[in-house]
Amino acid sequence: MNIFNLIAGNWLHGPQTTQRFPLRQAPAVAFRGHVAMDPNLCVTCGICADVCVSAALEVVPTPSECSWTYDPAACTFCGACVEHCPVGALSQANDRGPSYGLPGEQAVTITVDYPACSSCGRPAMPYSEALLQTAFPEAGSELRSRARLCGDCRQRVSVLAMKKAFGGPDNTEGDSHGR
Ligand code: SF4
Ligand code: SF4
Repeated sequence: MNIFNLIAGNWLHGPQTTQRFPLRQAPAVAFRGHVAMDPNLCVTCGICADVCVSAALEVVPTPSECSWTYDPAACTFCGACVEHCPVGALSQANDRGPSYGLPGEQAVTITVDYPACSSCGRPAMPYSEALLQTAFPEAGSELRSRARLCGDCRQRVSVLAMKKAFGGPDNTEGDSHGR
């Protein structure tokens, strides 16, 4: 095509496909955008951070709570974290997130508070019904009640149950916390 015809054609027809900022084309169906986490579902297992090859996620537990941090600037939106979360606590927006200038600028941190142990009241890593369904689908009421205990109380109850089953002396009173 003659270059002058091309220039004249563009001049006459104007811009055809370019959209000026902030206009954007609608995202495709099943578009995978920013990752969101529901702290009411998260059991603080850390699997999402383990499977994230981009180091966009960080899960840091303490004795009483766990912080979950997500940096969209490091995310490749692959969806691996959403796929592997055992309790469905993660999802991806089906729209583009806002633009950013610097890495870390849009990082979000969500704190998951540990529920109280049903025996001693100390914070205990959460075991949700969804996690039990995934890990122990056949779990009975006894296992479900142990899931609401902290690690120390769970150990104490398990030792007591074993001694009961095998006929050993019941001397667990006051062992783990002096109670
Ligand atoms: S979508 Fe992929 S890159 Fe982004 S946080 Fe999840 S696992 Fe990491
Ligand atoms: S994989 Fe799911 S449950 Fe585990 S820490 Fe990540 S968001 Fe929470």
